[in-house]
Amino acid sequence: MKKIAIYGKGGIGKSTTTSNLSASLSHLGYKVMQIGCDPKSDSTKNLMKGKFIPTVLDVMKEKKDDLKLEDIVFEGYGGVLCIEAGGPTPGVGCAGRGIIAAFEKLEELKAFEIYNPDVVIYDVLGDVVCGGFSMPIRNGFANEVYIVTSGEMMSMYAASNISLAVEQFKNRGYASLKGLILNAKNVEDEIELVEKLADEIKSKVFHYIPRNKIMQQSENNGRTVIEEDKDDKMSQIYIELANKIMQSN
Ligand code: ADP
Ligand code: MG
Repeated sequence: MKKIAIYGKGGIGKSTTTSNLSASLSHLGYKVMQIGCDPKSDSTKNLMKGKFIPTVLDVMKEKKDDLKLEDIVFEGYGGVLCIEAGGPTPGVGCAGRGIIAAFEKLEELKAFEIYNPDVVIYDVLGDVVCGGFSMPIRNGFANEVYIVTSGEMMSMYAASNISLAVEQFKNRGYASLKGLILNAKNVEDEIELVEKLADEIKSKVFHYIPRNKIMQQSENNGRTVIEEDKDDKMSQIYIELANKIMQSN
């Protein structure tokens, strides 16, 4: 089982990248599980016809010990197994703690053994790499990390912090950073800026995703671009990312 965490600043395109990656992997024949770890809980919506699925935290509150895997795992486009950890009401409580509780529940219910996916992908907000937000790269959940960034200052700042956090845990035999995914915002000298950052953190630009308005169009239709138009050049770019990730070890 390949276990991947996709980190990055809020709004940078993690969920878009992750859901299109999941759809691409399923297109290539892999069984995929995608776990949204952002309190926004919209990671999987483009795999679920634009709908928000119930979150682990919400269902835990409602069903307590009666919670079953079917209450929190939903099959989306291409058979991708979709889960949203969820989070507290904004401004109330710690979002990270919610992720920890959700992960413990998934382990307790043996979600990974029962569904036995080829690939598990965690879509994680990385503005603050504390407690719950570093959970996926601790305790053996994910062992490969990719960071989504553009050439914008704040997203590169977040990427740099995330790489430091990964480095901390790496010493204890956990996840390692596989590279940066440049999701272009078309800022000036973007490629050079992100390549420089990659050098500084001793990593590399693993894949380049151009900005393209078909991404908004497919999102408005509640779909990944793979579902929208498999032959579009953006679909080919995500399928190429999926192939590269599966080939890297
Ligand atoms: P995050 O999960 O990091 O918060 P999202 O994946 O929700 O970010 O993306 C934020 C917005 O950016 C979405 O409306 C999405 O359609 C748009 N977006 C992401 N990647 C691209 C891209 N390569 N081209 C055009 N729009 C994009
Ligand atoms: Mg997101």
